[in-house]
Amino acid sequence: MSNGFSPGSKPAAGPDPTQVQPPSLWRELGLERAPAPSYSQLLQQLRHGQGPQRIKDLELSMAQRQVTVRYADGRRVQVPVFNNDQLLLRTAQEARIPLSVRDDRQDEAMAGLVANGLLLLLLLGGLALLIRRSAQVANRAIGFGRSQARVVEAEAAVPVRFEDVAGINEAKEELQEVVTFLKEPERFTAVGARIPKGVLLVGPPGTGKTLLAKAIAGEAGVPFFSMAASEFVELFVGVGASRVRDLFRRAKEKAPCIVFIDEIDAVGRQRGAGIGGGNDEREQTLNQLLTEMDGFADNSGVILLAATNRADVLDAALMRPGRFDRRIHVDLPDRRGREAILAVHARSRPLAAEICLADWASRTPGFSGADLSNLLNEAAILTARREQSCIDEQAMHDALERITMGLTAAPLQDSAKKRLIAYHEIGHALLTTLLPAADRLDKVTLLPRAGGVGGFARTMPDEDVLDSGLISKAYLQARMVVAMGGRAAELLVFGPSEITQGASGDLELVSRIGREMVTRYGFSSLGPLALESDGAEVFLGRDWLRAEPHYSRETGNRIDAQVQQLARQALDQALSMLRPRRALMDELVDLLIERETIDGDLFVAVVQRTVCGDEAPALALSRTIS
Ligand code: ADP
Repeated sequence: MSNGFSPGSKPAAGPDPTQVQPPSLWRELGLERAPAPSYSQLLQQLRHGQGPQRIKDLELSMAQRQVTVRYADGRRVQVPVFNNDQLLLRTAQEARIPLSVRDDRQDEAMAGLVANGLLLLLLLGGLALLIRRSAQVANRAIGFGRSQARVVEAEAAVPVRFEDVAGINEAKEELQEVVTFLKEPERFTAVGARIPKGVLLVGPPGTGKTLLAKAIAGEAGVPFFSMAASEFVELFVGVGASRVRDLFRRAKEKAPCIVFIDEIDAVGRQRGAGIGGGNDEREQTLNQLLTEMDGFADNSGVILLAATNRADVLDAALMRPGRFDRRIHVDLPDRRGREAILAVHARSRPLAAEICLADWASRTPGFSGADLSNLLNEAAILTARREQSCIDEQAMHDALERITMGLTAAPLQDSAKKRLIAYHEIGHALLTTLLPAADRLDKVTLLPRAGGVGGFARTMPDEDVLDSGLISKAYLQARMVVAMGGRAAELLVFGPSEITQGASGDLELVSRIGREMVTRYGFSSLGPLALESDGAEVFLGRDWLRAEPHYSRETGNRIDAQVQQLARQALDQALSMLRPRRALMDELVDLLIERETIDGDLFVAVVQRTVCGDEAPALALSRTIS
């Protein structure tokens, strides 16, 4: 039988369970809680107490002003009494009941003393904690001026070698001599050659500047001090300068060595720039850096490498001979370079035999070394997630998409919206296929991406254009027309009142290209004038003071009119190219909705099969598939 609670069970017969019975142990100990008599009842009991009320003795507590009454049957109760209670004393004496007095004042005093002592201890403890805290803060403040450079000292600790850096051969060759100098300085000193004290590596982020600096240290087997320039600058003026001093002191102790300062533009910007004349702390840090560079003797063995992607904003004093007098450009890799970088990063990853790195190098124009390394890493993560043993083409495709377009979102269900997006994307894709000067279509897809992208038509810039860095007027015009393709398709198919804001990104691109064509490249009827320079604003202050453009208001109006005209021309051309091909567009939209993704080659084949014979030559032969 269980002894748990069961609903409906009745209490067993016996004493009323609501009546609390005092435990018998209490009674045995004489601690039974009998109701205490009042003061007058106590006097009464003293005088006439009979039977259970008969009092055996009393004990008066001096400190607590109460009397403990012990009855003849052993019960004990406590009754509060007056201070110096003569009546009680007299009554007890008359009734001949023994009364003893307990002097517990000393116990009381002792307890008070202990409590006070504890409080004092607590206070002292708190004070000690506070003092320790502030000492730590002070210590930190004193240690502020120390440089926080990360140092890799032992030869084996810099595991990077030149073979780990690919695709930037010119820069590597230039830096080879620094390695030779660090290894055999006598070869240079014997013929009176002076090795540059500072080498500035200039290039976009992720192109391998840090890697290159590490490779030099690794090849030469010397210590490598690295620090980001932003780490010099602190809230307090003078801290940066003292960190620079400390860094160079440590470097000189370890010479020969490499000191690498990343993002040097954080301290090396032109002095005096900015609102209110500049930033004292940054300028002091820069001054200290310049002084230190002057201070160490030629061929002392300390070689300073600094990286930046904004060499144009650096202070001229940094660049003069004897300081960063050698400047090496580390550019984005070309196709061969990308292939080599992919090969470097593929060394440690199992790739399926089907993967052709040359193809992947062609598919990744504009990617930096860091992007390529990230691509392979993403592909490896996807492979691990799919529990495959080596990275295959599909993983690479998915990784590329993830990097360039973001994470995939759930496919669109709403068919009307899907159709509109399909027409928009087909507009872009069809125009890029039809225009000879435009980029090659890589793929068009309706699979949405996180961040509100409903679909996209991806194009690949021509490798020659990319490598040469020369962009023609025809190419820019074609890009504008292709960008307008989405809006043009919406206009043709859904009418002027149904066009959507989905083209806002395209319109921004068109405006930007148009403005650059007019104000920077002289591609408009305004003539061969550069009215604006590279628009990257670095100095807020300078920009603010020079908010007025260099041209007249009238020229400004003409620039705006020209940009508008270019944009309108692009839209008109897009409309005129798409209008006669409505049937082809419908066919392609159906195909896209059915397949969700159309590969560039298949798209070109479908278009070529349909377009009239006289337009076929306009399609680049290379874009067709047999
Ligand atoms: P930067 O200093 O130019 O911003 P990093 O040197 O920090 O770029 O590069 C980041 C990462 O990208 C490196 O650790 C490396 O994995 C990869 N990487 C960049 N460029 C190259 C290259 N040329 N060869 C091999 N790997 C590279």
